[in-house]
Amino acid sequence: MDERPYKTEYAKSGRAKCRKCRKILKKGELRLGVWVESNFFDGKTCQWYHLSCFFKNHRPGSIHDIGHYEEMSIEDQKKIHEKLDENKGLFLPDTNEIKKGKRPHSIDEEAAPKNKAIIKDFGVEYAKSGRSTCVECLKNIDENEIRVKKMDYSSDIGKKFGGKPMWHHLECFAAKREDYNFYLGGSQLPGISKLLKGDQKIVADVIPTIDLSPSEVKKIKEDFEEKEEITLG
Ligand SMILES: [Zn+2]
Ligand SMILES: [Zn+2]
Repeated sequence: MDERPYKTEYAKSGRAKCRKCRKILKKGELRLGVWVESNFFDGKTCQWYHLSCFFKNHRPGSIHDIGHYEEMSIEDQKKIHEKLDENKGLFLPDTNEIKKGKRPHSIDEEAAPKNKAIIKDFGVEYAKSGRSTCVECLKNIDENEIRVKKMDYSSDIGKKFGGKPMWHHLECFAAKREDYNFYLGGSQLPGISKLLKGDQKIVADVIPTIDLSPSEVKKIKEDFEEKEEITLG
């Protein structure tokens, strides 16, 4: 059996529904799926999605994670590849701004990341209850305390539910952010505008944009691509 965690094919029947939009996947239509543990039998089952719906809920590392990819038409391979590129989990400040030697001076001046669509994989908010646990220090996060979210798409649960939030204390996220390839400022976290002004400032201070030279940016990009290559094996 194909061991790759995701799969693509042309729908063999017109019976399956997309897990995201719940609409029927038409027969012959390009679809992408994720293998998850079945609720009904001992083994894995494939959950199917439309192309764009799939990338709203999943983040495959590379095309090599997608079974049958090479059997699709060149045109469809290109479509999948483009979507994959748009959804790369690398969050760098705008390099053009870096080249110009410009540094943001205020929250409003910070350059927006290129992959805007998936910055929503992150977020900041006041904890709605005292029940969440920080994935970094494993301690509880108090109710109303600032907490930072990073969506998990790679664990079994993350795959099964099309993303599962991982919560962090503000400081814990700051310590962990390079593991998440998050080099942007905390002021770019979705949800920041809903915090009190004073707290917005705290988030921006604890998570400043990481100051990167163009050569450092190049290095990070290369390491990122390399890691992708390794995870293929
Ligand atoms: Zn859909
Ligand atoms: Zn923590």
